Amino acid sequence: MTTAWIVGAGIAGPATAIALHKAGIDVTVAERRHDTDDGGSSFLTLGSNGIDALTALDAGHVVTRLGFETPTLTLVSGTGRVLGDSRTSAVRPDAPVSRTLRRPDLSAALRAEARARGITIETGRVATGVARDDECARVRFADGGEAVADLVVACDGIHSRLRRAVDPTAPPPAYTGLVGLAGYSPAGITDDRPGTYRMIFGRRAFFGYATAPGGDVWWFANVPQPHEPGRGEVERVEPETWRARLVDLFARDAGPATRLVDAATEIMPASPMHTVPRLARWHDGRTVLIGDAAHAPSPSSGQGASLAIEDAVVLARALRDADDVPAALGAFEAARRRRVETIVRQAQRVNGSKAATGVVRVMRDLMLPWVLRATANSHALRETYDHHLSWQTGTDTVSTSGTSR
Ligand SMILES: Cc1cc2nc3c(=O)[nH]c(=O)nc-3n(C[C@H](O)[C@H](O)[C@H](O)COP(=O)(O)OP(=O)(O)OC[C@H]3O[C@@H](n4cnc5c(N)ncnc54)[C@H](O)[C@@H]3O)c2cc1C
Repeated sequence: MTTAWIVGAGIAGPATAIALHKAGIDVTVAERRHDTDDGGSSFLTLGSNGIDALTALDAGHVVTRLGFETPTLTLVSGTGRVLGDSRTSAVRPDAPVSRTLRRPDLSAALRAEARARGITIETGRVATGVARDDECARVRFADGGEAVADLVVACDGIHSRLRRAVDPTAPPPAYTGLVGLAGYSPAGITDDRPGTYRMIFGRRAFFGYATAPGGDVWWFANVPQPHEPGRGEVERVEPETWRARLVDLFARDAGPATRLVDAATEIMPASPMHTVPRLARWHDGRTVLIGDAAHAPSPSSGQGASLAIEDAVVLARALRDADDVPAALGAFEAARRRRVETIVRQAQRVNGSKAATGVVRVMRDLMLPWVLRATANSHALRETYDHHLSWQTGTDTVSTSGTSR
């Protein structure tokens, strides 16, 4: 039986454990954090395609009790002018609907599902390196331990420590010029209907929010900051300092941003937003990078977690179908590159428009309604959200009509 160690149990890690287990592989996961350390309770949107990928693993139920559906968004200028609407979910009738959920809840639910299937997750274990020979791969741990397996899957996130073992030329993650933070505010401040994001291109920063079915509001802000902050610098800034700064940044904009920030019951630690646009290689024959370790779109894509779960399915299928591990890893990388790199590029363009100032901002607000009308049902949106993975046939399709699994 093929054996695998997975490093990291964020999103990609437990999803990959479930997928490899389904493919008949004996898998163990190592995660540096303990279960009680949730790493901050920010939220994300899991696209229809990410939920579709979980469904291919018989794990779609994991997310149905978490968060709430968010299939659409409305873009608004800082003056309050509605620039247009867009879809952020699949159009195919049998597809799941995109959901907004707390990231730690998603990670915990995936870990629980993996454990329920008999998979061991060793927490509090920090991987420090990985090496390979013709027969196996070895992971070293900070506690002095070593694990040996046919395959190591590095799911250790955007600041991956194992990335350079696979691609020694890998550049560090690229800073997007934006600092991101999120918060939660009580019901009664807005009267927006639940399920739609409202994205405000403010004069000095970007603000987005979604109303949950009970009326409370989940919001985030992207603040332009041209120079890359040092590691931990913006994370250390107190929430109350951010509250005052955000209220000031959004003071001249129409909409509820300042009221929501002012009333927030929780403001999560800020973090600089990075991307990993392209690595020369994702595997060395026995170790493979997946999720943010391999390709991190900026958070503006709303796709990082979904792509990580898709990776898990495609990797497991490749291992199930190939003659040996190196061949499977080659097939996996060939199958995934074009899709993820297209989505990474699209998110880079969105980042540029979030940081626009002066005349560029005015032009953007004039152009966006036209662009949105032209792209409302575009091929790019369908390719992203209607992407369907079949476990049995090993095929990926983009379909706007019913499909069978
Ligand atoms: C502000 C923000 C907003 C976002 N919004 C969205 C969104 O709306 N939709 C979306 O799909 N994505 C979003 N994302 C991206 C999404 O969170 C990531 O793409 C996703 O978490 C990637 O999963 P991953 O498992 O690859 O990495 P991670 O979730 O980062 O998990 C990596 C895991 O590896 C562990 N680890 C790291 N190093 C080691 C080590 N040496 N040894 C052992 N364990 C280790 C970490 O503790 C962690 O648990 C957002 C990201 C940010 C920052």
